[in-house]
Amino acid sequence: MKLATGVTVISNGQVLDGNGGPAVPDAAVVVRDGRIAYAGPVRGAPAVEPAAARIDARGGTIMPGLVEAHFHPTYFNVAALEDLDIKYPVEYVTLLAAANAKLALECGYTAARSGGSLFNIDVWLKKAIETDICPGPRLTASGREICGVGGLMDWNPDFRKIGMDGLVLLVNGPDEARAAVRKLVKDGVEWVKTYPTGDAAAPDTNDHHTLCMTAEEMAAVVATAHNHRLKVTGHCRATAGIKNALRAGYDAIEHGTFMDAEALDLLLQRDVPCVPALYFEYASVARGPEFRMPKTVIEGHKETLEAGAESARMILKAGGRLGMGGDYGFAWNPHGDYARELTFFVKYVGFSPREVVRCATRTGAEIMGRADEFGTLEPGKLADVLVVDGDVLADISVLEDRSRFVAVMQGGVVKAGQVACW
Ligand SMILES: [Zn+2]
Repeated sequence: MKLATGVTVISNGQVLDGNGGPAVPDAAVVVRDGRIAYAGPVRGAPAVEPAAARIDARGGTIMPGLVEAHFHPTYFNVAALEDLDIKYPVEYVTLLAAANAKLALECGYTAARSGGSLFNIDVWLKKAIETDICPGPRLTASGREICGVGGLMDWNPDFRKIGMDGLVLLVNGPDEARAAVRKLVKDGVEWVKTYPTGDAAAPDTNDHHTLCMTAEEMAAVVATAHNHRLKVTGHCRATAGIKNALRAGYDAIEHGTFMDAEALDLLLQRDVPCVPALYFEYASVARGPEFRMPKTVIEGHKETLEAGAESARMILKAGGRLGMGGDYGFAWNPHGDYARELTFFVKYVGFSPREVVRCATRTGAEIMGRADEFGTLEPGKLADVLVVDGDVLADISVLEDRSRFVAVMQGGVVKAGQVACW
């Protein structure tokens, strides 16, 4: 991705650097050749040449670009899970994924970690974004998702003869789990997404279902992935499934819904990050009837929401790391609503706006393994910056409103927002 050349000064706003501290009032950010040269009080800013470009933050907030930590660009706002497999061919899904990536960038998300991909689209989407062929967040790519036969992602009964080739690699036993990871290695993915547990959303499993993968299969996935320097994450709701994944050596936990004290200890021992993705549950409860979800499924989502919020509070209180990612890409939880996750964590889970911003910036970059490159406004880092006409700490929901974005910047280049010109 090309870096800007020259100098840009962003001023007339407060700076939130992404480290979780208080905002610096009346601050400035100086960008030189696509990287942060200075972020702090305007009175301490270095002198710049008269030709420097200037962006007026309009008394609002200058902060790092957001990181969506559980992004599914290939999930095309489906109303039924099986639509992911049967509705469109790979060619069209690829175009939809590119459109979703562009939308995410316009929503202030300058980076994202994929939480699983249809076909091998995310790897190639990442390449297109990195070479400036299409706009989107800096992406960490996942591939097809690994699940045991008969597990959460294998919900179609055989008589329907619906293949799951686009979405999952179904495995039986550690040998097949190893083979699936080796395929993903050849595909070029960076994160291996797996399904250790069930979910309220699927017809044949529930939130407490732990046998979508065996501990032996998970151990085989981790050993093979780590051997090739890939990271492993998993859809983990049930308590025993969370523990199995952590004992197997997982690098992240998605959802972490039913944590108990022992699961929390295991998480903290290796400082494994967790991405709760709670707005998905909230939206499923609120809008489920509209989409004819069975009552038992809606009740399952309600239980998941309450337990997931409690687990997130436990993790935060214990000093663990949380990423903000919303599992967007379903009809009731569509692309474009990404920042609703952040508002939800402030209004309903009880996090402070500063904590949420840190989770959505620095921790997101850490989960991507790229915290030395972006995620905070610190000298030397890439100038991935979001300039918002509004006080994000007073009302975090301003991040949901793209019309309030003055600039969305990647590497010093303004890609979206009112002053965008690329
Ligand atoms: Zn997901």
